[in-house]
Amino acid sequence: MSTRREFIKQALISGSTFALSGACRFGRDTDRIDAAAIGKLRTSLEGQLILPDDEAYDAARRLFFWNPTTEKSPGIIARCERPDDVARCVEFARQHDLVLAVRGGAHSFLGWSTCDDGLVIDVSPMKEIAVDPGNRTVRAGSGVVAYELVEATSPHDLVPVLGECPTVGISGLTLGGGLGWLSGKYGATCDNLLSAELMTADGQSIVANATENPDLFWAIRGGGGNFGIATSLAYRLHPLSAVFAGVLTYRLSDARAMLSFYRDFMAEAPDELQAVASLQRDGDPLLNLVVCFSGDLNDGEKIIRPLRTHANPVRDTVQPRAYSDSFTEGAGGSWTFSHIKACYLESLSEDAIDVMLDRFAHAPDPGAAIGLDHYMHGAVCRVAFDATAFELRSPGALHVRILALWNDPYVTAAIVEWSEETWNALQSHSAGRIYANYPSTEGQAAAKAAYGGNYSRLLAIKNKYDPSNIFRRNQNIMPSSA
Ligand SMILES: Cc1cc2nc3c(=O)[nH]c(=O)nc-3n(C[C@H](O)[C@H](O)[C@H](O)COP(=O)(O)OP(=O)(O)OC[C@H]3O[C@@H](n4cnc5c(N)ncnc54)[C@H](O)[C@@H]3O)c2cc1C
Repeated sequence: MSTRREFIKQALISGSTFALSGACRFGRDTDRIDAAAIGKLRTSLEGQLILPDDEAYDAARRLFFWNPTTEKSPGIIARCERPDDVARCVEFARQHDLVLAVRGGAHSFLGWSTCDDGLVIDVSPMKEIAVDPGNRTVRAGSGVVAYELVEATSPHDLVPVLGECPTVGISGLTLGGGLGWLSGKYGATCDNLLSAELMTADGQSIVANATENPDLFWAIRGGGGNFGIATSLAYRLHPLSAVFAGVLTYRLSDARAMLSFYRDFMAEAPDELQAVASLQRDGDPLLNLVVCFSGDLNDGEKIIRPLRTHANPVRDTVQPRAYSDSFTEGAGGSWTFSHIKACYLESLSEDAIDVMLDRFAHAPDPGAAIGLDHYMHGAVCRVAFDATAFELRSPGALHVRILALWNDPYVTAAIVEWSEETWNALQSHSAGRIYANYPSTEGQAAAKAAYGGNYSRLLAIKNKYDPSNIFRRNQNIMPSSA
């Protein structure tokens, strides 16, 4: 892959401030480790160990959001096949004092599932799925991604509550909260978690559920990867096969009116409806509304009619379809580079809409988009703020997503700068709270903004389960002793 060369070339030509990561430095932390010790780790694993000189290395270190800030060079990538592999790797990282990154579906915005120099524990090969249709539950290995779980449960006309992206890992999604098409009806992904198996910082496999280690169970429903490495997760399933769903596309000239209308319409919408708005380009600039109604199909047309009539969509694909249709593999397109920033708005003001439209008009590249995800309403907002660690549950709130996708490395500086400036422009419209799964900043202030009123309880649990902060490549809760 030539991306590193391209980044370096770009950085040199543009004089940009992007840091050049590990591979360009002399010496790695892992260089000081005896080759015999690495060999011993390799033979103790059922999974594959990938080192920088291996042919598989460049592909293995790549994340979904691939840009100068997430492009890193781990010293060791361990593709774990079973919980025991994970335990061996945690022990190895402790023993050699290595930075440790944990990877499920590799969709971290800030590149937390990789690191320079250290050890990446990649659980993505752990793909076992066991559906129990009678009890409406499923248990999945922590390397499963959303579409794989939906594919496994859909033949039973049962579905899990996941996010909206088919390729997001269930682990990262669940541990951070998890918001998607069905959250108005059934809550967040973490509200549907029944039990999890985790590898702790001292290499012990433990169960967290309502009766076993309930403090940990509370913490992993929103507190992210701070407490251990999930090796399997069990969820409640819900009966569903078909939905009334698709895309309504509007001209950009209708976007202002439609965005205001969307906000007011969603405030009255039934729990079964979710809609995502996105300013993007498909040749021409436009507004897409992706809708999904999971209630009685006979009501679907009536429910979404106001969206069809308030302005005239130039494209309308909304119709009855299998729920699993929205979870087909391969989402994400063929872009080489991507970057994302997000912010949480307690409500969508007219001024915030103006900022979004103005910033979209100044986007430097066809791959730039600004979207509104996860209108917060229904069941997810009826769970108490402190019932789980995931506390962002205010009705009427939304998540703004500033997305940049590009192929030409020479656009990098301009498009990332546009993204940063757009995020800055929206800050005065946000109360500053952060969804742990949509991080744009890190550090202790960010962690406090993410965990809010639940922070001190999470800190006590972090002190108990990971006092030396082995698990720190996340929205990190710094233990008191660190
Ligand atoms: C295109 C796209 C669409 C998205 N859509 C949604 C959406 O609709 N709804 C939503 O809520 N979120 C969404 N997200 C955000 C997503 O939930 C987070 O990025 C999440 O962290 C991704 O999890 P992952 O396992 O894929 O990522 P990874 O990058 O593998 O992991 C991210 C972090 O999660 C933790 N982690 C991962 N696996 C484990 C494990 N087994 N044990 C312990 N910790 C672990 C680690 O801290 C890791 O750094 C989206 C992200 C992307 C890129």
